[in-house]
Amino acid sequence: MNWSAYEKPQTLSEALTLLEKAGGKGRLIAGGTDLVLQLKRGGCRADRLVDITGILELKKIEALDGWIRIGAAVTHAQAAKHPLLRQEAAALAEGCSQVGSPQIRQVGTLVGNIVSAQPAADAAIPLLALEAELKVLSVGAERWLPLEEAYQGIGLSTVDPTKEAVTEIRFRKMEENGATGFFRMARRKALTLPMLNGALALRFDPSLNRVEKARIAIGPVADRPYRARGAEAYLESVAISKEAIAEAARIASAEANPRSSLIRGGATYRKEMVRLYLTREIQSLVDETKKREQGR
Ligand SMILES: Cc1cc2nc3c(=O)[nH]c(=O)nc-3n(C[C@H](O)[C@H](O)[C@H](O)COP(=O)(O)OP(=O)(O)OC[C@H]3O[C@@H](n4cnc5c(N)ncnc54)[C@H](O)[C@@H]3O)c2cc1C
Repeated sequence: MNWSAYEKPQTLSEALTLLEKAGGKGRLIAGGTDLVLQLKRGGCRADRLVDITGILELKKIEALDGWIRIGAAVTHAQAAKHPLLRQEAAALAEGCSQVGSPQIRQVGTLVGNIVSAQPAADAAIPLLALEAELKVLSVGAERWLPLEEAYQGIGLSTVDPTKEAVTEIRFRKMEENGATGFFRMARRKALTLPMLNGALALRFDPSLNRVEKARIAIGPVADRPYRARGAEAYLESVAISKEAIAEAARIASAEANPRSSLIRGGATYRKEMVRLYLTREIQSLVDETKKREQGR
């Protein structure tokens, strides 16, 4: 490992100042589940590590002004069991509950999952379907970055952890007649990223016969978490039926472009799995929402 200083500031401004002083040779660390492995393997270098997990304001999950806000030090374990997320974003709570192992979930953060920029990251995929945004700070600057723009390619983020800190993730509260879902296909004994995962955020019209808004995210079928825009547009344009759901899933499968991998399976197989899993997940969200609304 290659760092010579490990700092644990108590405030955000302290953390940003430490990064600035390191002049590009410092780097933020949260749970360290990705970063420590990269440092060990020589995948990246850092003289100074700045640990953000002691900063209290980054540990919150809250609803404010129509947004759900999640701090950068929130772990997968916290998110998976949080009542607000289970209620407002079941897909995200479910995705977080399936990351790695209890030990990894206990320290790994949602923001680290995003900045590591893996196309099948289990928190990033539902956050993409939820159209999340990231608050990015550096000394003297602040911006909101749509999650989709946080990626440059496999393992490459547009956020620079040697200069910038993501402080929170936010997304809109679920609208009336909304529902979210998550699916994941993985090898049985694997403690790693899945062979395939996906998340849906659907908003139905009051009659529940149409999908007014569809957001579908799938991984790993591109060099970054992927929005199946063709399938979304189709689903928004037709009345709900078994045939329409099958066609939306077929379009998503045709759009998907997974690589053949010895570990994660062949491209043809995974494209077919996109079709099967999506058909099942869309149908189950339709059924669940009808049942929920009829029970009111
Ligand atoms: C055994 C094992 C199994 C795993 N299984 C899964 C799995 O099933 N699914 C899955 O999705 N992932 C999995 N992972 C990957 C990993 O656990 C997650 O990506 C985790 O969420 C990363 O978060 P972290 O807090 O540990 O990030 P860190 O390792 O601390 O950081 C990751 C990157 O983000 C940067 N960073 C961290 N915080 C900030 C911030 N606030 N602002 C800017 N940059 C920041 C760091 O500099 C670094 O570049 C696994 C990892 C291991 C080791």
